[in-house]
Amino acid sequence: ANERWKSILHAGLRDQDAPTIFDRIIQRQIPSEIVMEDEHVLVFKDIHPQAPVHLLIIPKRRDGLTQLRYATADHQELLGKMFLTAARIAKEQNLRGYRLVINDGSEAQQSVFHLHMHLLAGRQMRWPPG
Ligand code: C5P
Repeated sequence: ANERWKSILHAGLRDQDAPTIFDRIIQRQIPSEIVMEDEHVLVFKDIHPQAPVHLLIIPKRRDGLTQLRYATADHQELLGKMFLTAARIAKEQNLRGYRLVINDGSEAQQSVFHLHMHLLAGRQMRWPPG
């Protein structure tokens, strides 16, 4: 009973489960510059680039992943796929260095509640990030 209560509470804490702008990008209802696509992931250019290279890597089926915090063992393969996709694109584009970012939650400045990984490159990065 305690576990069930916890899962109900957990679900209630989701920021948003409604479709997002990324669903419309996946369905080609709004235009985007797509860099790569396969059965599982879509990679496209961020509309407000924060670096000369700024790509977003997203799962095509959000599958409950509004935020990384909702990931379960069932998502392990998809999450691995996102990282391998980033590394492959970085290699293909001969990026000398790059940064991967996942913002989880409003405090981390997440604005679209469909899991996405930012791939940033093409300039000297600084630390700590803002
Ligand atoms: O991590 P966060 O949720 O803030 O990132 C969302 C990203 O999606 C932003 O970098 C924003 O520029 C991008 N975006 C986009 N095209 C849209 C809406 C948002 O590339 N139509």
